[in-house]
Amino acid sequence: MSKVYMQGERLMVPDRVTIPFIEGDGVGAEITPVCQKIVNRAVQIAYGGQRSIEWKEVLAGGKAFRQTGEWLPEATMEAFREYLVGIKGPLTTPVGGGIRSLNVALRQTLDLYVCLRPVRWFKGVVSPVKEPQKVNMHIFRENTEDIYAGIEWEQGTPEAEKFYAFLRDEMGVTKVRFPETSSFGVKPVSIDGSKRLVRSAIRYALQHGLPSVTLVHKGNIMKYTEGGFKRWGYEVAEQEFARQTFTMNQYDQLKKDLGEESAHAAMAEAVNAGKIIVKDCICDAFLQNTLLMPEDYSVIATLNLNGDYVSDQLAAMVGGIGIAPGANINYQTGHAIFEATHGTAPNIAGKNIVNPCSLLLSSVMMLEYLGWQEAADLIVNALETAFGKGEATLDLARFMPDGTALGTVEFGDRLVELL
Ligand code: NAD
Repeated sequence: MSKVYMQGERLMVPDRVTIPFIEGDGVGAEITPVCQKIVNRAVQIAYGGQRSIEWKEVLAGGKAFRQTGEWLPEATMEAFREYLVGIKGPLTTPVGGGIRSLNVALRQTLDLYVCLRPVRWFKGVVSPVKEPQKVNMHIFRENTEDIYAGIEWEQGTPEAEKFYAFLRDEMGVTKVRFPETSSFGVKPVSIDGSKRLVRSAIRYALQHGLPSVTLVHKGNIMKYTEGGFKRWGYEVAEQEFARQTFTMNQYDQLKKDLGEESAHAAMAEAVNAGKIIVKDCICDAFLQNTLLMPEDYSVIATLNLNGDYVSDQLAAMVGGIGIAPGANINYQTGHAIFEATHGTAPNIAGKNIVNPCSLLLSSVMMLEYLGWQEAADLIVNALETAFGKGEATLDLARFMPDGTALGTVEFGDRLVELL
């Protein structure tokens, strides 16, 4: 038996595990083998041959289209469904095909409702902020709802006209400034969708011993969607994790009932007891705060569009937009696809200069998800050592004071050596 499976809410991982992977288009053919080599070696060292990964290639993107005539063959979906945990390189977005985005198709089909992006700084990597070592955040971006649900109609179409007529005639909406030339989009945000996301974020904070979860939203303006997300998030904390959390909601209530001193004391007691502080922040203020006092934030739970902006800003703050890892996860079914977050980089493909670290750190996340922490730690240590010595691929090395630019393959071999 080499398949990962769920037993109740627990992920069960055999020692010889099969992991389906999509090589990826463009630079995918360069970074995927390099990462697999490093991961295989780390697993071998960490477990002395007791554990191993059998990589099972599945097709998607340009390679799939060339070989099968399909961008995302059913066999690939079936493999991810069956083996639960997989990994993918970047994929070309088909132009003019039936599929808008292969990534979105994978997320929707498997209902991968969490987009998890851990953001940390590596010593040696040049950053645009003064104290990048203070950035250590874990973003839980909702993946299935919000404006990204893709429910929209283009201006001038009969659908947009019909939708506006419905708004005007049935819903009494009078605030559309230019109805004849407006496109319309719908932003669904549900109790179920919000709660499962926040639940996952709180569980993650508990499992990793992290101090806080911040609900990031625009509830001051969009009261029922973004504001709902905040309210339902607090409900999850207070109703489902009452003993492990203390919320800003509870703080405010205590302040109102018993005064600021009592609220303060309750907060201090909660912190001392190691409870997770669940707070919220309006998204625009949050983006400012992360630049001014990043140490105040740990786990972030947010809706899709906010999460998009937050992920990119935080990744840029650690100089890591090209090395940021990511995963799409459904914690209920166990399905998870780890991925390179950058694109296929056609301008540098085939030149042996691409940085493999986004996919490599996603592989580290995958090892952690499987519970193979020792192997994950070995890779992170090797990376810290390499960056600390100024050894990196060209994209990073050129900004390091004494940087040495290594080719993709050579950088991979150096990491294997450092393991
Ligand atoms: P891109 O991320 O491929 O490239 C943007 C820039 O960053 C380029 O200059 C590229 O050379 C550089 N870059 C990206 N990754 C790098 C790495 N690992 N090391 C060094 N430099 C790196 O974005 P794009 O050019 O907008 O998109 C190209 C294709 O990729 C498009 O078809 C797009 O749809 C697709 N795409 C896929 C994904 C995905 O599969 N997750 C994500 C984004 C874009």
